[in-house]
Amino acid sequence: MKKNTLWDASNDSCNIGNSIIKRIVDLEHVSFAADLIFPDVNPETIKQLSNRVGLQHFSDNTLDLLLSFHSFLIQTKKYNILVDTCCGNEKERPTRPAWHQRNGPFLDNLANAGLTPSDIDFVLCTHLHADHVGWNTKLIGGKWTPTFPNAQYLFTQKEFEYWKAEDQKNPSEPIMYGSYNDSVLPVIKSGQAVLVESDHQIDNGIQLEPAYGHTPGNIVVNIESESDQAILCGDVIHHPLQLIKPKWSTNFCYDPELSRQTRLNLLNRCAETQTAILPAHFHSPDYGYIERDGDTYQLIK
Ligand SMILES: [Zn+2]
Repeated sequence: MKKNTLWDASNDSCNIGNSIIKRIVDLEHVSFAADLIFPDVNPETIKQLSNRVGLQHFSDNTLDLLLSFHSFLIQTKKYNILVDTCCGNEKERPTRPAWHQRNGPFLDNLANAGLTPSDIDFVLCTHLHADHVGWNTKLIGGKWTPTFPNAQYLFTQKEFEYWKAEDQKNPSEPIMYGSYNDSVLPVIKSGQAVLVESDHQIDNGIQLEPAYGHTPGNIVVNIESESDQAILCGDVIHHPLQLIKPKWSTNFCYDPELSRQTRLNLLNRCAETQTAILPAHFHSPDYGYIERDGDTYQLIK
């Protein structure tokens, strides 16, 4: 078991060998009713589990689940790689109030990490849900324009083809709250998108891996440097409740059974190989290593 604390809360970052990983927040402490996220949960179950999981992951009075929406910036010797781009500003999401017509400080937070949008070499979306593509674009002169002018945007072929087909099935319906049109298609049209295989290698030790289930082409990102290993596991795990209830898939999972199997495989592998997990929606500094205890898992920070 790793003994050192993984996450440096003072800098909101960690080192994995030679790579630095920084969290760039779009919005946090967003509360969602537990039964919006997970099917068939009741308040008594959540109350019992909340003490085990940690009350910082729940809102004070209601025990709603708290989620964060952040990117992870991977800085290797060669590249700045931004993984998942959250919700974005000025997006029209009337049925998701927390994401609707935002004016948030994401780019200021990127600046605080020492970078401008021009410095990003690769943008990678683990999947194409609305809360993972938002900052792909920003509104300039009434037109959705790629936010990161020098970046290649990596989408997996399998994921993109699924959403493209969905769009073609229902051309009059906005796909994914409209995010396919305002945050994915403009990048395709600009020529900055690169469709890659689900096991694509971006740089030495930075490799995609299929993690299907949450969406048809969902991937995670393996980071290996020197003897350290971490996985940016995106939405394979949404909330720390799933460490105690690893079989719980969310209401947003395309294939709940496959999502469950993917989650169990990933948690078991992390426990066996001292691999850190960095999920897309846990609060900082709640990242660390995984220890298995029977049918449940524990985060070792
Ligand atoms: Zn998500």
